[in-house]
Amino acid sequence: MSGHKPALYRDRHDFRRSPEPAGRNPGNRPVFVIQAHDARRLHYDFRLEVAGVLKSWAIPRGPIPDPRRKRLAVRTEDHPLDYADFEGSIPAEQYGGGTVLVWDAGTWRNRSRDGRGRPLSADRALKAGKLSFELWGHKLRGGWALVRMKGQGKNWLLIKEKDAASDGRRNPVSTQPRSVLSGRTLTGVRRDTEQASPP
Ligand code: MN
Repeated sequence: MSGHKPALYRDRHDFRRSPEPAGRNPGNRPVFVIQAHDARRLHYDFRLEVAGVLKSWAIPRGPIPDPRRKRLAVRTEDHPLDYADFEGSIPAEQYGGGTVLVWDAGTWRNRSRDGRGRPLSADRALKAGKLSFELWGHKLRGGWALVRMKGQGKNWLLIKEKDAASDGRRNPVSTQPRSVLSGRTLTGVRRDTEQASPP
């Protein structure tokens, strides 16, 4: 893409200015980010801003906009909001070791309801084990749900809801691998980090 990038891509990037449908006010919407993380095994860390932190799940196969295909999403620890625009390589022996890029980012809206159809806060929906939400990202859009699997602890499923943004033929994990912040691939991020700090 455009010339030299620092090893740690840390330009402040306002996710709230990500693509938005006309006529909506994105100003107060919380952010979401999906970080491709090439650790011992490549996975996709899905993070939603809730009450000032990033609620997080690791998705081994990555998200897919096909409502017929559920993706395992393993709940991981909350991350600080600052981590949302992190790209770079972390030494293998450290927590989170491996190479990270911002695979998708944007804003999201909670649209969870309780059993009587009343709006439910994101926090309460997560405790109840089902969060319904809408994404406005570069690669992912429309309605989604995260549903906790019964009796399986940290295991949830990420499911696309049927709507105008669902697509049974598209697999953006394989067709759109690059960072939405820097345009780099995982290989590019790793190379930039190595050049910035030779062993
Ligand atoms: Mn990870």
